[in-house]
Amino acid sequence: MTKQEIIALTLQQIEYRQNPPPEEIADCVGIEGYDDFVIAELNEQLPEGEIKTCEDFKHLNVECCETCHRYYPHYDVKLVSLPDGSTAWICCTVRSAVLGLKEPSEEEIRGFFGGKIRE
Ligand SMILES: [Zn+2]
Ligand SMILES: [Zn+2]
Repeated sequence: MTKQEIIALTLQQIEYRQNPPPEEIADCVGIEGYDDFVIAELNEQLPEGEIKTCEDFKHLNVECCETCHRYYPHYDVKLVSLPDGSTAWICCTVRSAVLGLKEPSEEEIRGFFGGKIRE
């Protein structure tokens, strides 16, 4: 996806558009005001060119993190550089699946559980 496509998609999924706040609140802050802010954040963080998104990692069988995508996607979804040199804009669950692709060695697992792994 390109930066522009990601911005459009992000605004489609964001919580305040799915469930707009009551008018009294919306009047104070203004949905357009939020949009401008989110768009500005994304513009700053996303590079030009092709960016992978969670969709590109569906084969890893991970569920997207709804919290990341809905509430503060401009903060919680992050830009990650992949080993193959590409760039991905992905939420926390996909990040851990993608970045954790390497199988941990037995030693690392032991370290993680404080050496108390049962044979
Ligand atoms: Zn996701
Ligand atoms: Zn998340």
